[in-house]
Amino acid sequence: MTNTFERLESQVRSYCRAFPTVFNRAVNAELFDESGRRYIDFLAGAGTLNYGHNNPQIKQSLLEYLRQDSIVHALDMYTMAKRSFLETLDSRVLQPQKLVFKVQFPGPTGTNAVEAAMKLARKVTGRHRIVAFTNGYHGMTAGSLSATGNEYHRQGSSGLLGGVSFMPFDGYFGPDVDTVEYLRKFIEDASSGLDKPAAIMLETVQGEGGVNVATAGWLMRVQQLCREHGILLIVDDIQAGCGRTGAFFSFSSSGVVPDIVTLSKSLSGYGLPMALVLIKPELDRWEPGEHNGTFRGHNLAFVTAQAAMDIYWRDNAFAAQVNTKAQRLRRKLLAIADAYGQAVIEVRGRGMFVGLAFEQEPELATAVSRRAFEKGLIVETCGSRDHVLKLLAPLTIEDHVLDEGLMLLEQAICDTLTQHKTRSYSTPEIYLSKETQ
Ligand code: PLP
Repeated sequence: MTNTFERLESQVRSYCRAFPTVFNRAVNAELFDESGRRYIDFLAGAGTLNYGHNNPQIKQSLLEYLRQDSIVHALDMYTMAKRSFLETLDSRVLQPQKLVFKVQFPGPTGTNAVEAAMKLARKVTGRHRIVAFTNGYHGMTAGSLSATGNEYHRQGSSGLLGGVSFMPFDGYFGPDVDTVEYLRKFIEDASSGLDKPAAIMLETVQGEGGVNVATAGWLMRVQQLCREHGILLIVDDIQAGCGRTGAFFSFSSSGVVPDIVTLSKSLSGYGLPMALVLIKPELDRWEPGEHNGTFRGHNLAFVTAQAAMDIYWRDNAFAAQVNTKAQRLRRKLLAIADAYGQAVIEVRGRGMFVGLAFEQEPELATAVSRRAFEKGLIVETCGSRDHVLKLLAPLTIEDHVLDEGLMLLEQAICDTLTQHKTRSYSTPEIYLSKETQ
């Protein structure tokens, strides 16, 4: 029963309200609650479980490490686990892409990495202002929240939030307006009121903001603008990174090379808390201990992160598999959208980072999510009006489980639209159910 939580846990709890059962076990993309009921997981810890729940190979390395009484906590002292992690990150991820970064370990959550990135950009440039984007999401602590657009999250901290100016993200005014030109005008006009920023910070695919995808061209133009004006480019790859869009980094396919990158969520590969900031070497101007913290260097996470890189990033095979799976996912989602009308459901996203947007009737997204949960599928909503269903299935999901989840999703959409009496939607025979018969 969920009573204990309602009695004892703060009102602030959130995901558990949308998915009100008590979970017990999980394997790859399947979760089981305490009654043994099975759910397919299209939430995956909001992008933290790219390699699935309890990935057996990663688990093995963790168990072996624990069995040997190896170091679990050591502040940021040197450990063998940290050395192996750093060497593996360098050899498996950075060097193959000819990327040279210093690695900073902030506290273990995404928002810690963002705080550190913003602080460093300000320190290095001696400027205060940061440009973030409409619908951006960077975390809940004061600095990160000041760069997060969402009104609901910002309320209550308003006095604390400063030093950030919001500019329109790619596509904010529709496909015909180049928002980089808009941003350029503000930066180049000495009387625009925008102080010259220390950094421009962005997500290549905005996760919490509604699965809004920046085009490669837009990203390159932002980078160009940064270079022309000595502004640092921070890519927050906390949700879009670690293979979610195909390659390890979400920016790789665009050709952009950020000055600072933040990573967290799926970095540890196993759901253990871990975050880092990648810094171009010439920008690593921290003084020793200047950005300190107790949990900077979670050795168990070093071990699992290293295992994940050894297993999945030793060559390009995994990225290719993710792309193949993403095509399968997209094809099926487009078929669903076609069946109900593209005006009702818009498919958006990149790789396995996908959203179904209900622009015209935002409340449908939450209704579908609820119905999906009743049917045994966990899928969350995002976007400014909670109008987008965000699909973040583990990248390792088996094809038949992916198909089953999509079938449940379609049934949930069909049920919701049928029940939604104010409009008359076409409710065709369920497409995927037919296809898989
Ligand atoms: N940045 C992005 C892009 C995120 O999606 C999130 C979390 O969803 C964060 C930062 C904050 O991470 P955390 O919740 O671990 O603090």
